[in-house]
Amino acid sequence: MTLTATVHRGTRQIGGSVIEIVHPEGERLLLDAGQALDLGEGEEDQLPPTLDLSRPAEVLLTHAHLDHWGLVHKLPAGWRVHCGPATAKLIQAAPFAAAGLPHEFQTWGPSGTAVQIGAFRVTPYLTDHSAFDAHMLQVDGAGRRVFYTGDFRRHGRKSTLVDKLMANPPRYVDLLITEGTNLGTDKPTVTETELEADLVTRAARVPGRIFVAWSGQNIDRTVTLYRAAKRTGRDLIIDLYTADILDQIAEGTRLPRPGFPNLKVVITRALRRHYGELRGEAFIERLLPHAVAANELQGSRGIIILRQGLVKDYDAKGVVPTAQDLFLWSMWDGYLAKGDKAYDWCKAAGTRFDKLHTSGHAATADLMAFAAALAPKAIAPVHGQNWHAPPEGFGPILNATDGAPIVLP
Ligand SMILES: [Zn+2]
Ligand SMILES: [Zn+2]
Repeated sequence: MTLTATVHRGTRQIGGSVIEIVHPEGERLLLDAGQALDLGEGEEDQLPPTLDLSRPAEVLLTHAHLDHWGLVHKLPAGWRVHCGPATAKLIQAAPFAAAGLPHEFQTWGPSGTAVQIGAFRVTPYLTDHSAFDAHMLQVDGAGRRVFYTGDFRRHGRKSTLVDKLMANPPRYVDLLITEGTNLGTDKPTVTETELEADLVTRAARVPGRIFVAWSGQNIDRTVTLYRAAKRTGRDLIIDLYTADILDQIAEGTRLPRPGFPNLKVVITRALRRHYGELRGEAFIERLLPHAVAANELQGSRGIIILRQGLVKDYDAKGVVPTAQDLFLWSMWDGYLAKGDKAYDWCKAAGTRFDKLHTSGHAATADLMAFAAALAPKAIAPVHGQNWHAPPEGFGPILNATDGAPIVLP
């Protein structure tokens, strides 16, 4: 009698990860419950039909990206959710969860500290990814060991976490479930430090403002932009959404937040109303000493957040992009390909456009090195589109299909 692992979704796609581990005595863990990334406008995702909802399970979430937790609201309300402490806050701060999730959330302790969840012993390892507080998960049960990478990379601001794990890896891994986002692609995997240097160089040649589209949840990127702002004598101007995220997680860390030099919050109408209701007027008042009004952006030389949701409020306050400004796209290209109002707004004004981004996922060589360090008996592929053609020497990759149980030897 041994463990069974089922990748309900993800053996052939990036995102929408749903993985189940079943103990021979019937207890179950669900690793991630993610939403598909390729949904059309207004399209609603559903849980994979192979997942049995009639029996209880404990849910483990690796990180706060929607493609890993965006289907939690479809799981029975009695299923408890376990995740990192900041991940729980990020999920609760996400506009998507505004209505609130009925599930009980339990947060795990420091990286590397095992927790007993029913018949399973789970060890979370903090890792490097574009989501803050992302974890890898080691699951022990019935004398077997499963190791799930979640999403990770080895070129972000926390790459040493991955290096340390590889230098002192868990032994006797029966099944490694690894992401493979960048398999078969040549996506840039420059480091955040290189992005920072790149922006410092570019900023010297920009007479006007630098508008940047990035995700407030990508804390590594916020740090990169903040450091570049300080080095170039500009202010980093974030919106209320990004300020709220930093407010939720920065306590006890060295992360930049309102009150730091060269950091300002732009108060825009729609977000002001939203956060006034969500966090109370006291939250807004606390930010006011560090705030700028949208109309003050016109004369500034800041590094300014720009997302399509902000365009209307900027416009209403007379903020107009010009040919002296630069617009940098600092997110996944896929969002731009869907069409973006901020892009159109800048383009119409003749503002120069460029990209400033690096992948949140490991390069192929790093995926291989990681698998080699763990030396698992078998590898189950997930979160990738090119697992059918992995490079030679990757390791013992199973020919897994969505929803088909893998019985551990
Ligand atoms: Zn993902
Ligand atoms: Zn992710």
